[in-house]
Amino acid sequence: MTEVLEKQQERGTELGRISHWIGGQSVAGESGRSGPVYNPARGEQTKEVDFASVEEVDRAVQTAKEALVGWRQVSLSRRQELFFRIRELFHQRREDLAALLTEEHGKVFSDALGEVQRGLEVIEYACGIPTLLKGDFSEQASTGIDVYSIRQPVGVVAGITPFNFPAMVPMWMWAPALACGNAFILKPSEKDPSASVLAAQLLQEAGLPDGVFNVVHGDKVAVDAILEHPDIAAVSFVGSTPIARYIYSTGTANGKRVQALGGAKNHMIVLPDADLDMAADAAVSAAYGSAGERCMAISAVVTVGDIGDEFIAAVKERLPKVKVGPGTEPDNEMGPLITREHRDKVASYLDSGKEQGAEVVADGRESAPDGDGFFLGVSLLDKVTPEMDAYKDEIFGPVLSVVRAGTYDEAIKLVNENQYGNGVAIFTRDGGAARQFQHEVEVGMVGVNVPIPVPVAYYSFGGWKGSLFGDSHIYGPEGINFYTRGKVVTSRWPDPATSKVDLGFPQTR
Ligand code: NAD
Repeated sequence: MTEVLEKQQERGTELGRISHWIGGQSVAGESGRSGPVYNPARGEQTKEVDFASVEEVDRAVQTAKEALVGWRQVSLSRRQELFFRIRELFHQRREDLAALLTEEHGKVFSDALGEVQRGLEVIEYACGIPTLLKGDFSEQASTGIDVYSIRQPVGVVAGITPFNFPAMVPMWMWAPALACGNAFILKPSEKDPSASVLAAQLLQEAGLPDGVFNVVHGDKVAVDAILEHPDIAAVSFVGSTPIARYIYSTGTANGKRVQALGGAKNHMIVLPDADLDMAADAAVSAAYGSAGERCMAISAVVTVGDIGDEFIAAVKERLPKVKVGPGTEPDNEMGPLITREHRDKVASYLDSGKEQGAEVVADGRESAPDGDGFFLGVSLLDKVTPEMDAYKDEIFGPVLSVVRAGTYDEAIKLVNENQYGNGVAIFTRDGGAARQFQHEVEVGMVGVNVPIPVPVAYYSFGGWKGSLFGDSHIYGPEGINFYTRGKVVTSRWPDPATSKVDLGFPQTR
């Protein structure tokens, strides 16, 4: 357990209590509302998290607003220096962060470390902030006139994040936002909130001024308070599609800049010429890693031509070797699901799939470890068709559906007609087919023989269609644009002797 949580436990109840972080200190909630935090591998509640009221969100915003005044004056050199220290500290403490993820989310420790590592890459990108904020300069745009552009922070900004990446997704937001000179309010998922409190403590230790980064925990009450607060200029959201749509419409109706990333149904298309062993390895890794609770997980494999039986056999052969159990045991490869309700909902797709005509090749209820943990073993449905619930819905669990398509055209039609457009992958040895695919497919992130094509930190992450509301993808260059406003300065230093009144419209000369 981290020092932060130990201190909280000493102060409070038998359960670890997770409080807000406002103005550089832990602030106990006063709303009288709170929620349970579980250890999903044990299936028991271990902590309680405070839920913020409208007044508590306002207190965080006022604190951020005051801190912004000084933070806005901090030079690019100092901000860069600070980010190098942040990078170092998060790197040193990556195992503490990962341990919290394993404890509250359930993902296995190696996967949790991978999550922290991908977040660190976004911090590393933010270390280049002086270069990233360089503007343009046009000397002598008109005679004696120079024109230049600058990018300035938007002000107090907020991030609302999902349960499945409790460290990395907040880093996607706060790293570019703070580097650009904004103050930040984070509303993490109430299901696994501790990593955000540790992040706040590390930012303080690295030297970030108090009040520039604040954490308010909570549910819809806190989210609505953020969306309606007049002093919050921009909101970043990552979560499910219905909530993303709501965040976008409510946030923009309140005059805010909003980027809202939603859910996914990621397809992997396997062409007849693909190396089937490689494709099966990739499908098993991408479908069951993090128990399928990744927005870039592969949920449906579309086999093209007559390779379906061979592909199913290759996947089936690999399933018994996937080690499922508590994430704290180093040999385990897949942990539990986030809650009992979610586990049961995911498992229900095996029943509806069977009722609607799919073949249940592996039922994870039969292979789940014993005990109270929220486990479901690896599950495989074959001969899934587009009208089945298992195909239509984002399952967000370890259930892989295999759809059989006769031709490439049928396969790409499935992807392009899907309501989501987050990630997609094609497996083939044919460069021409892959090139045609990347040209035609209506999805934001495309993998060619890469099953989880999460862009590196110096590109931006984002889907199309129901996977993104707003114009801006997250992190990378689009993240820098999202967290800044452009300004163009037209400047002249004339000789006073030549000055005269001229009421004509300014023209270039
Ligand atoms: P969620 O939408 O339930 O919750 C996300 C955030 O919204 C949380 O902070 C939660 O407290 C808040 N929230 C929940 N209900 C709300 C409501 N009615 N009003 C206002 N706020 C509300 O998502 P989740 O279950 O935490 O995360 C899983 C989902 O996130 C999946 O759909 C997954 O695909 C998606 N996701 C998408 C990406 C991406 O990059 N596109 C990345 C990670 C996760």
